[in-house]
Amino acid sequence: MIKVDDALKIILGAVKHIESENTPLIKSLGRVLSKDIYAGSDIPGFDNSAMDGYAVYFSDTIGASKVKPKTLEVICDIKAGDSPKVSLKENQAARIMTGAIIPKGADSVIMVEDTERGSRLKAQGSREKQEYVKIFKEVKRGDNIRKKGEDIKKGELVIPCGKELNSAHIGILASLGASGINVYKRPRVAILATGDEVIEIDKELTPGKLRNSNTYTLYSQVLKCGAIPKNLGIAKDKPEQLEKKIKEGLDCDIIITSGGVSVGDYDLVKYILAKMGTDIKFWQVAMRPGKPLVFGVIKGKPVLGLPGNPVSSMISFEVFVRPAILRMMGQIHEERRDIDAVLEEDIVKKKGLRCYLRAHTYWKDGVYLTRTTGPQGSAILKSMADANSIIIVPEEEEKIEKGVRVTVRFLD
Ligand code: AMP
Ligand code: MG
Repeated sequence: MIKVDDALKIILGAVKHIESENTPLIKSLGRVLSKDIYAGSDIPGFDNSAMDGYAVYFSDTIGASKVKPKTLEVICDIKAGDSPKVSLKENQAARIMTGAIIPKGADSVIMVEDTERGSRLKAQGSREKQEYVKIFKEVKRGDNIRKKGEDIKKGELVIPCGKELNSAHIGILASLGASGINVYKRPRVAILATGDEVIEIDKELTPGKLRNSNTYTLYSQVLKCGAIPKNLGIAKDKPEQLEKKIKEGLDCDIIITSGGVSVGDYDLVKYILAKMGTDIKFWQVAMRPGKPLVFGVIKGKPVLGLPGNPVSSMISFEVFVRPAILRMMGQIHEERRDIDAVLEEDIVKKKGLRCYLRAHTYWKDGVYLTRTTGPQGSAILKSMADANSIIIVPEEEEKIEKGVRVTVRFLD
């Protein structure tokens, strides 16, 4: 029996990146970059105002206060999108809006709340009016100005290859004008359920039968990874059927089956895989749930025979298939969070196996607390449904007492 970490190493060593493709930016959420992105321009592209206010030269505001305001002549209004031609002289200001270019001769912006606008006659006896603004506060050089390139500098590495794109990345790429981007293709994942007792979900139950839940769970887990599932249906525990269905999955990038990998008389998956020329790398992993897993490579494609019990198949997917899919998609940054949490109950387990316990973990008074979500039988899917996390208990442990810190992985 192989240890979880060794098994994972073998699996990850056997999976290869799949090709990349160019995708429209609008459809790139969750896709993984297959090329580094360097900035083709500065962001922002010019010095601009962070506030609605007045563009001024800082020294014209020295000494300004509510009781002793400084009065500056307002020579123009600059809206966002304008390209101002003016140049401020001493004791002049320009009305400016958020995002507008800072005019020449100004080096700071005073917010409108610290000013008062007015107009007066230009000279005694003159009919011509002059716009002015009273400044109630000193500004420092650079106040309320967003400098060219302060967010992103032209030429800088903005997003590295292997990053899964989130909404902010997509925003950055949009501002850089990247309308199409290079991402890894989504791996296609074939899913096969096996078992004489397993029936389609729209069929009436007859004695001894149960509905195929694994395909549905696995299908959704594949989708959550950003991959493309292909449902191969159900194969009976018959060599011909198993072989035929597995063949139908060979056009995918990875094949997963559920059931038929244990030590029962009708657990044929491993034998059929071997008969079909699969290079079997290991069978049985020192873990609970999920022990009977088989892994091999068939015609260059990874194939994972997951256990049939619903929780075992889900956990095996989480522990082995998900990392394999992410590796195929070129993702180098694992986004699952492992944290320390304080156990709220005693745990007893078998020495030598790594245990994954379905748990509810929550934050209280500055620490994470965790407790199991109920009976941990590998067919009890409800305790998985209630879990937001799994407690990972190392092989060497036999008993962990309430109050001890354990490792917990959040599932979302
Ligand atoms: P096996 O490893 O084939 O002996 O299956 C272990 C257990 O998982 C059995 O109780 C099966 O009935 C159950 N099982 C196998 N396949 C499925 C499936 N697709 N959906 C739900 N339960 C399953
Ligand atoms: Mg079976």
